[in-house]
Amino acid sequence: MNYLSTRGLAPRLRFSDILLGGLASDGGLYVPESYPRFSAAELAAMRGMNYRELAFEVLSRLIDDIPHDDLKRIIDKTYTAQTYRYVTDQENAEDITPLKTLEPGLHILALSNGPTLAFKDMAMQLLGNLFEYALDKTGGELNILGATSGDTGSAAEYAMRGKRGIRVFMLSPEHGMTRFQQAQMYALMDDNIHNLVVRGVFDQCQDIVKAVSNDLDFKARHHIGAVNSINWARVAAQSVYYFKAWFAATHSNDQEVSFSVPSGNFGNVCAGHIARQMGLPIRKLIVATNENDVLDEFFRTGVYRPRPQTKHTSSPSMDISKASNFERFIFDLGGRDAAKIRSLWGAVETGGSFDLKTDGLFDRVAGFGMASGSSSHANRLDTIRTVYEVYGTLIDPHTADGLKVGMEHREPGVPLVCMETAQPAKFEDAIREALHIEPVRPAELADLEAQPQRKQVMDVDVDAVKRYIVEQG
Ligand SMILES: *Cc1c(COP(=O)(O)O)cnc(C)c1O
Repeated sequence: MNYLSTRGLAPRLRFSDILLGGLASDGGLYVPESYPRFSAAELAAMRGMNYRELAFEVLSRLIDDIPHDDLKRIIDKTYTAQTYRYVTDQENAEDITPLKTLEPGLHILALSNGPTLAFKDMAMQLLGNLFEYALDKTGGELNILGATSGDTGSAAEYAMRGKRGIRVFMLSPEHGMTRFQQAQMYALMDDNIHNLVVRGVFDQCQDIVKAVSNDLDFKARHHIGAVNSINWARVAAQSVYYFKAWFAATHSNDQEVSFSVPSGNFGNVCAGHIARQMGLPIRKLIVATNENDVLDEFFRTGVYRPRPQTKHTSSPSMDISKASNFERFIFDLGGRDAAKIRSLWGAVETGGSFDLKTDGLFDRVAGFGMASGSSSHANRLDTIRTVYEVYGTLIDPHTADGLKVGMEHREPGVPLVCMETAQPAKFEDAIREALHIEPVRPAELADLEAQPQRKQVMDVDVDAVKRYIVEQG
């Protein structure tokens, strides 16, 4: 199978060719030439499979240039109870993403049992093993450069630590992450992990990454790569747990399930869209945002209008004003018209917006089964309190946004699955504010913040970052 760019001007490539890259050469995002589709009989045969078996069924349809035996080995090595070991319900330790039922027809899919307590481990751990496999084959090296405001950086570092041929240079802002998030990254002592703490804010970290990546000569000479959320392998890996949840929430193939997804870069919900294109009977994909409501505005009005400034909220991992994976969805919505995407994103990239209502494209959104809503700080705390008091379950602020918006679109007789994107222990301040209690942490992380830390503090200086990469590379 080939992958093509949403902007239509880049060469068609195989999975392994796009694995290590970011944007296509024309600035677009790679998507499969066509989505492989599971028949009803094939879906029925997948019921009862464990996570590893499901992952192989789904991913082997999307990855056809890695021999199946190798792919199976990579998947089996990734999705183990040992890696996803923070399952709170120990009876289900082998079920790495248990479906927790709050009441009949209302569920939370626990996706945050990996090493960094956020759902990003689900895809990033696979990415680490795929990268290692690809580099082993070619004998190549990769210097991963990234910027993080919290969860992505730690997930990437835990996935890449100790991997041959890979170094991680992760820029993080001096202020803005929780102490827990900082300690998760800075306590890593692996030789191939470099934490560069920038005396600035997240946007400045991101600007440095862009500046280094735009130096094409430097990028090629030093094998600079990325693991950001547009990476196709990450999105593909995330589609697996929609299958997993659908099987867990239904008894037969003729049942539909709605999913509510706390959203920032549109990666998670894009994976749901792909699962549906592959034949999974999804009724609604509910896009939940926080106060940064660009996506909610689009699904309500047809206007996509990224904001120049991001608001800082108590669900910080969704503080994003430009949803990088959104282009993949609009490509499909618009009937895969690359010229249309070039013109829409031409406007967005020069600080503008687009309105799909005026040209009739927005009418198709209903056919794609999308819904949306947004949440405020007060909504978030209320939801954390209600879920704790009514169901005895503690959820994190991002998951709370998802549940709040999901409930607004719940329909009788249709199971609703809310994606849990982080464990509450990662966002203690919000839990304290809502309930005046301390979330319980996994025992081995009890003294995380007290462990020795290793980090390199730097000014906002592109050349200093380049020099550091050269010296360590
Ligand atoms: C990354 C993240 C999100 C947003 O996911 P997207 O794929 O960017 O939409 C939501 N919640 C948490 C906790 C995250 O880490």
